[in-house]
Amino acid sequence: MKYKAITFSYDDGVEQDKRLIEILERYGLRATFNLNSGLFDKRTSHSGRVFGFDAVFNNHRIPGDEICEVYKNHEIASHSLTHPILPALSDEEVIFQMSEDAKALEGITGKKIHGFAYPGGVGEYCNQRVADVIENNTSLYYGRTVKSTRSFELPKSLMLLDPTISHREISVREGLAREFLSLEADTPKLFYVWGHSYELDVDESVWTDFERFCELISGRDDIFYGTNDEVFRHFGLNNLTEE
Ligand SMILES: [Zn+2]
Repeated sequence: MKYKAITFSYDDGVEQDKRLIEILERYGLRATFNLNSGLFDKRTSHSGRVFGFDAVFNNHRIPGDEICEVYKNHEIASHSLTHPILPALSDEEVIFQMSEDAKALEGITGKKIHGFAYPGGVGEYCNQRVADVIENNTSLYYGRTVKSTRSFELPKSLMLLDPTISHREISVREGLAREFLSLEADTPKLFYVWGHSYELDVDESVWTDFERFCELISGRDDIFYGTNDEVFRHFGLNNLTEE
């Protein structure tokens, strides 16, 4: 049993995922990609400051007929049908957003969808009510937030699953990785990184740094590299909620 695991989680299903996947696969790393089936092939634009760069993100979401090929070596998970702020919706609307997305993704991939990431935005993007509604009315057994723990302990709740860090936290990213690599674990420890691949596109140096990070954490015999679902199964965390 490998007591240490590393997993990645990326949202929105944009074109830059292809470049990200090339890098991950060069180093034997595995990821989960959270997709909105109601937004396939859509173009959006927003601005922001990430990795110290001001940028306008002109994003193109991957068309639905490409996703099987693009994500074939990784896990596809849900990000809701159309990316609403879930706490603003009624229980019925939450169930519709999550179950319709999972159903559409399962139809395309022919594989069961196990989890999701809460669609984000300004204000409250997740809460216990929404988590409970999804847990009780869909077959999704885990849901990822965007709240960094900077900890390697297993999540207290799989339905409000806090990641270790965002890939954007470059001031601590490498230090935490080195700490994890040198950790002698005799209980399960998880290093969980999330992000949006388009953020890496703000500058070539950001891709280069990210690749260096991937190289650093790769190729260790004592680490299990898996998608979110594979890691939770590896640690036996999916058992309680398995149908
Ligand atoms: Zn999103």
